[in-house]
Amino acid sequence: MSLEASGGADLTPGPFPSGKGSHGGDRPPLLLTADWVLPITEPPIRDGAVLIVGERIRAVGPRRSIETPSNTVHRHYDGAAMLPGLVNLHTHLEYTNFGPLSERQPFWEWIPALIRRSHQAPADFWPASANAGVRQLVAAGTTCVGDIVTFGPGLAAARTHNLAGISYIEAVGMRERVRLDEQLAELTTKLDRSVRLAAGAQRLRVGLGPHTIYTLSTVALERLGDLAQARKLPLTIHLAETVEEVEFSRSGQGSLAEGLATKGGHDLIEAGGCGTGPALLADRCGLFEGLSLRRPAVVAHGVHFDDEEIARLAARGVTVALCPRSNAMLGCGEAPIQRLVEQDVRLGLGTDSLASNESLDLFAEAAAAYALWQRQAGASFDPRAADRVLRWLTIEGAQALGLEQELGSITVGKYADLAVVALPHPGDTDIAKQLCTGVRASAVRCTVVAGAIAHSVTA
Ligand SMILES: [Zn+2]
Repeated sequence: MSLEASGGADLTPGPFPSGKGSHGGDRPPLLLTADWVLPITEPPIRDGAVLIVGERIRAVGPRRSIETPSNTVHRHYDGAAMLPGLVNLHTHLEYTNFGPLSERQPFWEWIPALIRRSHQAPADFWPASANAGVRQLVAAGTTCVGDIVTFGPGLAAARTHNLAGISYIEAVGMRERVRLDEQLAELTTKLDRSVRLAAGAQRLRVGLGPHTIYTLSTVALERLGDLAQARKLPLTIHLAETVEEVEFSRSGQGSLAEGLATKGGHDLIEAGGCGTGPALLADRCGLFEGLSLRRPAVVAHGVHFDDEEIARLAARGVTVALCPRSNAMLGCGEAPIQRLVEQDVRLGLGTDSLASNESLDLFAEAAAAYALWQRQAGASFDPRAADRVLRWLTIEGAQALGLEQELGSITVGKYADLAVVALPHPGDTDIAKQLCTGVRASAVRCTVVAGAIAHSVTA
């Protein structure tokens, strides 16, 4: 199947509509005030306010400086900080009701358990599970997501709840050359259908999600790289999650190769590996070619990169979605956060699915990443690390998805995506440190999605 012959809808993600405030116009203006407002791209504002008109931020600043229309609804949050809605870079919303499959289960026992559960799930499981996932995200202050869609309902759920982000249509199980054309044709049909479904969703784009270097042959990865480039699709892939994956990439050997050899094989086994780690292999297959704001790439996990891979990811502008709690639960190891930071790799945070995490709580993920980074850096730990982790959760997460012009900071004209969080120590002025170490999703008192209050808890 040639890409040209695949026909169907134009998969090029369109720009967000420019009609600012064109939706939510029937709502009165909303003024939210809190002890602190953290725009992220500007210094924190004590006793700050954000004025929302329609879907967008109309004004931000000290409370007394904001002029409001007479019909404005005002909500004040005492002892709280307001920050941009969080960006979760790696989820599988469809797996929400699976989890966790087991506490601390080794990765290579977890994968078959996940597949078994997937085969047993009735059709109505997936929409209910994906919708439950979106609700949990929003309750945790998250408004933007990089979500991998395996069965379909993940995209509909994100769209229904007006999440921003990218729904990556997953490509998996393409290892046999004889079936590749047929499988790519099926994938293209799925992509076309997804683009049609996402067409009316102003804040959601469709991307491509090649699963891993071992569930896809290198030939399949090359074809998927071509597809992503030809159709300008944002891309994500799980990469360097386990030591077995790295061994397989380098030598085509090890326990992973032995397992695959009994299930149809893999061209890396025949080739004796590619001699490099998985990030260089993915790059050689074209997955990171021609990246841009419109076609960003995110790799999930990134636990076992060598220095050459880290340098290549930095040079390509690929974002690593750190998933420290999932890695811990499945015994995969710890991502080299300090080395990634030192080499200027773009970073963000992801919870992964509830099949390998205890919650979709990005504040808990931030605390795990902060602790890991602190331990790895030792005496050279940057005292501004909490500010950086907050950026991963917000503006840098948005950049990873190519959406920083629309969200990720509290900036006039951007979507009014906000999270209001109760502070454990309101008198302590190190707000970033509190948010990165001392709060959990249960502290979220309000989440605003495109100007609408989507989650609210009274104190
Ligand atoms: Zn994943």
